[in-house]
Amino acid sequence: MPWSLPEGVCFVLDRLETCGFRADIVGGCVRDRMRGVEAHDYDITTDATPEQMQAVFHDMRTIETGIRHGTLTVLYKNEPYEITTYRTEGTYTDHRHPDGVSFSRQLSDDLCRRDFTVNAMCYHPVRGVTDLYGGQDDLRRRLLRCVGDPERRLEEDALRILRALRFSSVLDFSIEEATARAIHEKKQLLHAVSAERIYIELKKLLMGVRVTDVLMQYRDVLDEIVPTLRDLPLSLSALPMLPTVELRFCALFAAAPDAEERFLAACDRLRTDRALRRTGEQLLPLVKSPTGDRRDLLRCLFSLGEEGTEQLLLLRYALGTDAHDRREELRALQMQAPVYRLCDLAVDGKTLTEGGLRGKAVGEMLTRLLYAVMDGKVENEREALLRYCEQIREETYGI
Ligand code: ATP
Ligand code: MG
Repeated sequence: MPWSLPEGVCFVLDRLETCGFRADIVGGCVRDRMRGVEAHDYDITTDATPEQMQAVFHDMRTIETGIRHGTLTVLYKNEPYEITTYRTEGTYTDHRHPDGVSFSRQLSDDLCRRDFTVNAMCYHPVRGVTDLYGGQDDLRRRLLRCVGDPERRLEEDALRILRALRFSSVLDFSIEEATARAIHEKKQLLHAVSAERIYIELKKLLMGVRVTDVLMQYRDVLDEIVPTLRDLPLSLSALPMLPTVELRFCALFAAAPDAEERFLAACDRLRTDRALRRTGEQLLPLVKSPTGDRRDLLRCLFSLGEEGTEQLLLLRYALGTDAHDRREELRALQMQAPVYRLCDLAVDGKTLTEGGLRGKAVGEMLTRLLYAVMDGKVENEREALLRYCEQIREETYGI
């Protein structure tokens, strides 16, 4: 039974074949379909040259930004489909980019430049699967194996080291022995890969189902891309319990006495996004102490908000700082509509200004009042708060 393919993919394949060219879907989409998973995008490979593709699709809307590398994007019913001419990639001097690409008429040229055997298969509804490197066997055995000599392939493009780890983690595949050896051997070449690319792969790797195993087995590679993790005991078993990449990234550093510092150095090096930085800055100083009583939870809510507190509790539980998951308690507390934000207070800045406070003192007093309410020292009630405010002023300023 031929696979059912998206209408636009069938259109592109048919059009090229009708014009006398060969066209197949290739790479990740073939791998995913063979694993029984829907593909998230379909790459098409063809022996038509870029000019020939342009002629074949002259009546369609196309995007030509990748044309120098052989890629034409055809828009079919507003959906983009990428078609790429068979390529060979020549030599690599920088361990990342080919010095030049040339186009080829041979499908085998295009398949042999691909990274892993499971990514080097193509498929056409009539011809079926073309598998020149044992990709189907490796897929059945759940193995990632470089196409060709692993050392040479990783030397050409060191990003493949991280792609291997990422696919292993996400697809729950093992890495074949010779490929694994080459990964350990060539890890230093990762210095040639840009921070952005490393970070993209690392994020996917961290979210994979096999993340704990992969990081245990390839700890040396992790240390290479995140040097501030060196010599640290990692709480790898915590990772699968954490739902977001930000929390998983934070968890890696949690055991260090100087966790925040190491974490921020890693963020700088990998040029990570603001969201991650912020999560680490907020949570890492707090993860090492276990969650205390209601007062402690209120203080967390005050400084982190609801979502931040939820994250902190999850992290503390995953790391074993809290013996059990305290988020239920947090939810129970939230049901009581507790006072933990300045805007929850029964007095506001205006009231205090009318009472004679000015400038910075207003904000400071509001915060002190809020803490007093959270600590149960005073009721959140206007008169009581104003009395309490007077009391503080007397004690502090002698007024
Ligand atoms: P996914 O899109 O699910 O992450 P994918 O296999 O489709 O996985 P892409 O990065 O979209 O990965 O690349 C498409 C295909 O291009 C791959 O399947 C592989 O055949 C080839 N490829 C991508 N990057 C490389 C690389 N660095 N070296 C060799 N081949 C590569
Ligand atoms: Mg893809």
